[in-house]
Amino acid sequence: MIPVTKPYLPSREKLDKYIDGIYEREWLTNNGPLVQELTKRLEEYLGVENLLLVSNGTLALQIAYRALGVSTTNREEKPEAITTPFSFVATASSLKWEGVEPVFADIDPGTWCLDPKNIEKAITPETKAIVPVHVFGNACEVEAIDEIAKKHNFKVIYDAAHAFGVNYKGESLLRHGDAATLSFHATKLFHSIEGGAIVFKRKEDLETAKKMMSFGITGPDAIEELGINAKMNEFQAAMGLCVLDEIEENLKARATVWHLYERELSQSLQLQVKPEEQDYNYAYFPVVFESEERAVKIAENLKENGVLARRYFYPSLDAVEYLGAGKPEPISKDIASRILCLPIYNKLSEVEQHNIINVIKGELK
Ligand SMILES: *Cc1c(COP(=O)(O)O)cnc(C)c1O
Repeated sequence: MIPVTKPYLPSREKLDKYIDGIYEREWLTNNGPLVQELTKRLEEYLGVENLLLVSNGTLALQIAYRALGVSTTNREEKPEAITTPFSFVATASSLKWEGVEPVFADIDPGTWCLDPKNIEKAITPETKAIVPVHVFGNACEVEAIDEIAKKHNFKVIYDAAHAFGVNYKGESLLRHGDAATLSFHATKLFHSIEGGAIVFKRKEDLETAKKMMSFGITGPDAIEELGINAKMNEFQAAMGLCVLDEIEENLKARATVWHLYERELSQSLQLQVKPEEQDYNYAYFPVVFESEERAVKIAENLKENGVLARRYFYPSLDAVEYLGAGKPEPISKDIASRILCLPIYNKLSEVEQHNIINVIKGELK
């Protein structure tokens, strides 16, 4: 089977060297030297400051909400955050887990990111934050969102799980918002098997989060505040360092795959509209068909031909019962019903890719 993505496996020899080092030092976790090195290397590569590595992208979101005072342990309060229904479930479930009610606002039909007009309509007296997603690596309308947040004194936490390395107007997209979170799960463009990071705008928030992610323990005899365990370990960091070393080759191979799909399919299918002044990381290749029926049919045909295209993101999160299943968001629901993500990874061959394209084109005739 050709999967929708394959984890990037870096040079085994290099990984072995890092692991030899871990064995020599006998330092396996708790802010070890490889975690420190990866933090520095990622800050340099991404062009950001105040980056905090954590054990996965979901805890990155949860700790960001906590550190920024969006979630609360006060049971009298019922904070809300405005977010997108067109995302992976962790964007909204992480809010719910933290006692923050996700309130959905609909997306833009072209870029599939939260539409600022709809954010304004979803504001209530309980709103504390906006949690937009740079979906499939597409930059949200950050200027408009910043303006709404400033006007109402909301925190903005971007779920940037898909936006590794994306620059917008000449600088890292991760510099927008009070915090931006990344996922380094094995299926993501850059990964550390499991892992994640938070990029904070302010150093104070980074310091707060550092305490939180290590049980609230601040010294050998000091427990200052409520915390959790979200530490990245040395083996994760070793994988991250090796994947980062080869990121340029990985990006180049993905770009080739991406451009071939685009050349072959953009005439007949709806693709995601890319904002101007943004470069792209080729993390995903989503296509939207004219109807749900056709999308499902093509997914079946591909499967018969040994190819797994996935319905990302389906269902639209406003339809998930425990997330409130409030009023449906029509644009998100519509795009979610007609979308497929096509296989994209560095080792996907041109022959395999042409087979995929031919199955799709055959069905479109
Ligand atoms: C992958 C992903 C997450 C969760 O990250 P994990 O590292 O798997 O916990 C959150 N949000 C989005 C949009 C994602 O794609």
